[in-house]
Amino acid sequence: MSFSHDFSFPIALPTETVYGLAVDGTCDAAVARVYALKARPLFNPLILHVPDLASAQQHGIFDENALCLARQFWPGPLSLVVPLKSGSHVCDLARAGLPTLALRVPDHPVAQEVLRQCAIPLAAPSANRSGRISPTCTAHVRAEFGDTIPILEGGPCRIGLESTIIACVDGTVHLLRPGGITREVIETALGRALETHSKAVIAPGMLLSHYAPDSPLRLDATQVKPDEALLLFGTKRPSGWEQVRIIRNLSETEDLMEAATNLFSFLRQLDATKPKAIAVSPIPSYGLGEAIQDRLKRAAVSYKAQA
Ligand code: AMP
Ligand code: MG
Repeated sequence: MSFSHDFSFPIALPTETVYGLAVDGTCDAAVARVYALKARPLFNPLILHVPDLASAQQHGIFDENALCLARQFWPGPLSLVVPLKSGSHVCDLARAGLPTLALRVPDHPVAQEVLRQCAIPLAAPSANRSGRISPTCTAHVRAEFGDTIPILEGGPCRIGLESTIIACVDGTVHLLRPGGITREVIETALGRALETHSKAVIAPGMLLSHYAPDSPLRLDATQVKPDEALLLFGTKRPSGWEQVRIIRNLSETEDLMEAATNLFSFLRQLDATKPKAIAVSPIPSYGLGEAIQDRLKRAAVSYKAQA
């Protein structure tokens, strides 16, 4: 693949997690365009995408823990927050002015090829308006932005859920956001438990209301009404489900990986039918269930506020 694009302007880029809006992460003006396009709050820093660990080390200081995680999980759905290295030309706006930055090496052939060709760190938040459901295929990106930005085709996203974010700062290891790699797998790799509540690391942008469909979301539903849409997990059915017309099952076989891949796509499909609410079956809290629950809880916040 050979292509040319001026990364002063956003382009939709496929990754294994979700589609991103990629811009030159070293240029404040370019990064400002992506914030504007997404209507994203400026205090919410972006993840910088690079092709490999060696490139990441030009921008961030990797301690023993960060190196261990990068070697084990890159390329892959893991973002590492590390101290900014002096000499890095990642711009202030991409870091929201913080003395740290988030780095990731995506595991997708198109993203890898683009990163190698452009040879600059690309800031690439999800290709959706801020607060809305992340896109896991090009049709979702088009639904958000129409034909206003170029879109690179990369097929449906294999993981379908954003990266896990881990901060390795001052010898501590914090889970800032659950995501595509589970806590359990990371703890096994490190040989230590992850800390969750961070005093040492500021974690901006963990907005309470996020990933939200237009329809209200009702979690852990044990009964459902006929004018609601239903998002199931596994074989258990809430009472009243026979009356519901619009149903999706994240995974009939209770496979959390399959559920993660389907989550955003199914939320969009149910939302498009404009139901009174989307009722969601209980989801386990282990493995990828932690990240799925995290996204569902934030998607449900605006509803709770009204209720
Ligand atoms: P996304 O919204 O998926 O683009 O992910 C970006 C998230 O990464 C932000 O919302 C922050 O929570 C987190 N993040 C990025 N940079 C940093 C940083 N320097 N320190 C702490 N968290 C960060
Ligand atoms: Mg996002």
